[in-house]
Amino acid sequence: MIITEITVSSVEQLKNHIYHLKCYSPALATSFKAGQFLNLKVNDTTFPLLRRPFSISDVNGDEIYLLFNVHGEGTRMLTHKVKGDLLDVLAPLGCGFNTDGDFDTAVLIGGGLGVAPFPLLTKQLQGKRYLHSLVAEVKPTLLLTD
Ligand SMILES: Cc1cc2nc3c(=O)[nH]c(=O)nc-3n(C[C@H](O)[C@H](O)[C@H](O)COP(=O)(O)OP(=O)(O)OC[C@H]3O[C@@H](n4cnc5c(N)ncnc54)[C@H](O)[C@@H]3O)c2cc1C
Repeated sequence: MIITEITVSSVEQLKNHIYHLKCYSPALATSFKAGQFLNLKVNDTTFPLLRRPFSISDVNGDEIYLLFNVHGEGTRMLTHKVKGDLLDVLAPLGCGFNTDGDFDTAVLIGGGLGVAPFPLLTKQLQGKRYLHSLVAEVKPTLLLTD
């Protein structure tokens, strides 16, 4: 686990209050296991005081991706980040999913932003079958279906 700075590449609004944050971080891009998360400081000041936790949604080259839902001030501040902004993070955290155990098929079930880790998880389930058509929330925020 390290404390480091990651650089914002882009923040894209996917739908309503759901955003996709891409950050450049060669150091972290190789170290995440699907299901792990980071604790992110959304601002340079003391407000909000506490870091906000977010799952790693995916990794692509030197970039890590987060999917987030806007609930309060912290996530609202994240929507205003622009390319080149630095974010202070504590990562990687959590145990992550067991992707190389003695099983053939994984069933992935998620609701709302619980689906955030699925893109990286499906990559890391190499050689395994997986089913992930069981994703639901209220219609306006439906993100991933099979
Ligand atoms: C391990 C972990 C991983 C997470 N991964 C993700 C992720 O990948 N994507 C993501 O969008 N979120 C994720 N979350 C939730 C995310 O951390 C919070 O939504 C975020 O911290 C809210 O911060 P805020 O400053 O915007 O809201 P706050 O100011 O903290 O809260 C504002 C109001 O919204 C309510 N609220 C806050 N978060 C939620 C929530 N998740 N659901 C319902 N009500 C809420 C609070 O009770 C409060 O009333 C994760 C949480 C944990 C513990």
